[in-house]
Amino acid sequence: MNVAADAPTDGEVMGLLIEETRRFLAREVDPAAIEASGRIPDRVVAAAASAGLFALTLPESHGGLGLPLRSAGTIVAELARVDRSVATMVGLHAGLGTRSLVVHGSDARRARWLPALAEGERVGAFGATEAGAGSDLQAIRTVARPEGSGLRIDGEKSYVTNGGFAGLYTLLVRTPGLGGERSFSMVCVPRETPGLSVGPEEDKLGIRASSTVTVRLDDVYVPSDHLLGAPGAGMDLAHEALGWGRVVMATGCTGTARYALDATLAHVTARRQFHRPIGDFDAVRMQVSTMAATLFAMESLADRAACAAEAGGDLTGLSAAAKVFCSEGAFAICDAALQLHGAMGFLEQTGVARALRDCRITRIFEGANDVLLVHLGAGLLVARARPEAPSSGHPAFDEFERRLSRLVAENRAEFGIRGTQRQLLTSRLARAEVCALAARASLDRAATDPESAELAAFAVEQLTREGHRQLDALRFIQEDERAAASLSKRSYSPWASGRSA
Ligand SMILES: Cc1cc2nc3c(=O)[nH]c(=O)nc-3n(C[C@H](O)[C@H](O)[C@H](O)COP(=O)(O)OP(=O)(O)OC[C@H]3O[C@@H](n4cnc5c(N)ncnc54)[C@H](O)[C@@H]3O)c2cc1C
Repeated sequence: MNVAADAPTDGEVMGLLIEETRRFLAREVDPAAIEASGRIPDRVVAAAASAGLFALTLPESHGGLGLPLRSAGTIVAELARVDRSVATMVGLHAGLGTRSLVVHGSDARRARWLPALAEGERVGAFGATEAGAGSDLQAIRTVARPEGSGLRIDGEKSYVTNGGFAGLYTLLVRTPGLGGERSFSMVCVPRETPGLSVGPEEDKLGIRASSTVTVRLDDVYVPSDHLLGAPGAGMDLAHEALGWGRVVMATGCTGTARYALDATLAHVTARRQFHRPIGDFDAVRMQVSTMAATLFAMESLADRAACAAEAGGDLTGLSAAAKVFCSEGAFAICDAALQLHGAMGFLEQTGVARALRDCRITRIFEGANDVLLVHLGAGLLVARARPEAPSSGHPAFDEFERRLSRLVAENRAEFGIRGTQRQLLTSRLARAEVCALAARASLDRAATDPESAELAAFAVEQLTREGHRQLDALRFIQEDERAAASLSKRSYSPWASGRSA
């Protein structure tokens, strides 16, 4: 599709692309059949390429559409409404799979690979995780050693999304010869490079058609200009790309949640029990309203993170918050959708069960939420102070924000840097911070869209209450730490799990 030639304005490009995406989904994507086959058919990958879906975030100078992340996120959300495996393929390509090359690749490598990536002739993949290095990327063992005018790479990357058919792998590797023993670098390896091989597809709980494989590198040799950015800067590049990728993932979660909410609205108004639609019961109304408010807040926070990504600067905290909030929100919304569908939700034919399965992984990949939360909380404790936010015009929320700032400051003063090691402290502060960010984004969105004021007010009310709950729980940290330490000592032992002789 030659969108740029047909439509000069950004709005028109987006309109066309959304239409094209919907046509692609309607014509090519049958999520149940794709899931059952366990792979995205070549025909669907080719149709996605024709629809321009691999070009979203790539620069126009190299055949891409050059869309801002916000617009690309809209397309990924549109895909995720229908098929999370297809959305994951496109989202990973637009995010982690190509971001470092776009920003840090040499002119020659960008000119060589980006046009093929934009056309979908090569699909992007990203490999950081290894068998012994998941949340702890410092434990990476795959190594690239300088040799002649290139790098010799050996190792193995696990769980590589798109890995089964990717044309270009961006890998985070240890590079001891480039800036010290603990140096890491990011390197691109094209599929056809001798020594690169891929394992069989993993059998998964969800996104079953998304390709997930192990990638082996045996004596792989690449020229040194396959290195991205400065030698030894790999960890920074990986975090930068993960910041970008998490925003794409957060927007994908809004698409899945939108599907689940729409399905629920249709069901609760049609399904009758006790002589009335089940949607007339207060308990159901409350659940549906909570789903709608959560989705509103998810969209608001994902959008805020996407705008921040476009503006440049450090995305680490905001993208992690958006990823955590949207992945948990999508799972909660899908779970509520399944509950409100009753037995029908448990059957495959409604599609809600698949949505629940598919979105479960988003709480784990691109950084497990538990780990992101402790880092986010630690970041709050080491920052000089929480930035003072202007009054929101919502007194209860303003009061909560002041309480959060006060408690961050008090804990910083009391524990100093040691506080960052107390995970119950950091994760509870982080959860409160995520509530604050989501509420603030919701209020700002409502300010530009008066129609949404009631929904935003409900979302902010719920988030404020949840934020207070997290802050209330700070009082119990010491006893919770003690109880968890003691109980885990017991329950990790064979005696507690009944495995004693
Ligand atoms: C379908 C799928 C696709 C994936 N795609 C990719 C990809 O394309 N590229 C890639 O590089 N990786 C990919 N991954 C890997 C994914 O990013 C990792 O699984 C994730 O980072 C977590 O690592 P892990 O599984 O080793 O979990 P672990 O690090 O073993 O952690 C397990 C759990 O322990 C807890 N935990 C661990 N450390 C801490 C801590 N410090 N504090 C508190 N709790 C902690 C958390 O609850 C965590 O969920 C994919 C995984 C899957 C399943």
